[in-house]
Amino acid sequence: MQTDTREAATGFASFDLDSRLAKGIAAAGFQEPRPIQTQALPAALVGRDVLGLAQTGTGKTAAFAIPAIERLLEGDKPGPRVLVVAPTRELAAQISAEFESLARFTHLRVATVFGGVPVNRQRKALARKPQILVACPGRLLDLMGQGLVRLDRIEVLVLDEADHMFDMGFLPDIRRILAALPAERQNLLFSATMPKEIRALAEQVLDGPLVADVAHTERLATIEHALYPVAGTGKLALLKHILGEGQLDSAIVFTRTKHRARRLAGQLERSGYRAVALQGNMSQGQRERAMDGFRERRFDVLVATDIAARGIDVQQVSHVVNFDMPQTTDAYTHRIGRTGRSERNGKAYTLVTADDHGLVAQVERRLEMSIPRREVDGIESVSFPRAAVQSSGNQPSRRRGAGRAGARRRRRARAR
Ligand code: ADP
Ligand code: MG
Repeated sequence: MQTDTREAATGFASFDLDSRLAKGIAAAGFQEPRPIQTQALPAALVGRDVLGLAQTGTGKTAAFAIPAIERLLEGDKPGPRVLVVAPTRELAAQISAEFESLARFTHLRVATVFGGVPVNRQRKALARKPQILVACPGRLLDLMGQGLVRLDRIEVLVLDEADHMFDMGFLPDIRRILAALPAERQNLLFSATMPKEIRALAEQVLDGPLVADVAHTERLATIEHALYPVAGTGKLALLKHILGEGQLDSAIVFTRTKHRARRLAGQLERSGYRAVALQGNMSQGQRERAMDGFRERRFDVLVATDIAARGIDVQQVSHVVNFDMPQTTDAYTHRIGRTGRSERNGKAYTLVTADDHGLVAQVERRLEMSIPRREVDGIESVSFPRAAVQSSGNQPSRRRGAGRAGARRRRRARAR
């Protein structure tokens, strides 16, 4: 039979999954597990807690969705039995879509709850007794307060994009949700970075977790980083130069504020670019139109703030341009995580002014490489300190392997 051959051919066969789930994985076009999945699945499938560290776009969703679905298929009990908490509506919607895709050959139902839309539709979805609930913290607490959702049957808790939960101020909400869950449960926590607040949360929530860590090893090599020292007034001209050169598939341009995102998108549009803003002052509908338009290639340039672009999975982003230097090294890592997927080469270009050199030095230490400085003819450069890290060109330094492994061991030790 055709399907049997295909199932047997996938690298997921070794996990011995329920055939309905295996069929869903094959139908989604997944042939080989991604590194985060290879590391996380064996532990998660036997019910162990997992701490998963990996950048955006590395396949974290399936790393928790597959073991969650497998568990739900093992016995038919009333739910919801799986709760996924995610920081933004866009992420919650993406996660639900992935669950629905992987579980398409099963009877499992997914409900998605997030704010900014009327409660009614979500109330109906809850009334259909979903086994899987994907939620943003605020709306979930609202619904809990109204007695519209029960969490006493949750067997698996997933906290996705935990670092964003923290920097969006959701940790108190998370703690209230945790208090409403049965103590006996499996916990899967995923994050791209590991600030100390998330380490503390992980220690509190996870019990003897397997640490799946591909945060620093994946995909960095396929990204070309560069710095463009420039006076603030020259940024727009420089950006247009960058967007005009080479093969621009599509670009995400990051600004420091919502206002700057809106203004810059307008300026690019007036210069003939198919550009659109994505920032937190836009309505839910406007944000969806911007994202859909960018995904469907009606826009080539998405001008976004960090918060608005959290975790968004857009295939084939060729350029990430930091119009403004991100404010932390973690933010730099997150932003460039949008490009350089799989075999494609991504470009991560940062426009820097004289004030940015402290953060640039931190980023270079984190990446353990020097980022090349570039100038563009006709656009005035500003003086900018040389790299703090001595390594040649854009190659990771030789120390990198040892340093990473050491950092990982330390992190792992702390996570226990
Ligand atoms: P993350 O949560 O780490 O940002 P996602 O889970 O959104 O990443 O995955 C990124 C993309 O890769 C999605 O489109 C997803 O469907 C796809 N994907 C995940 N696992 C695989 C796989 N094993 N093979 C092929 N594609 C995959
Ligand atoms: Mg994700």
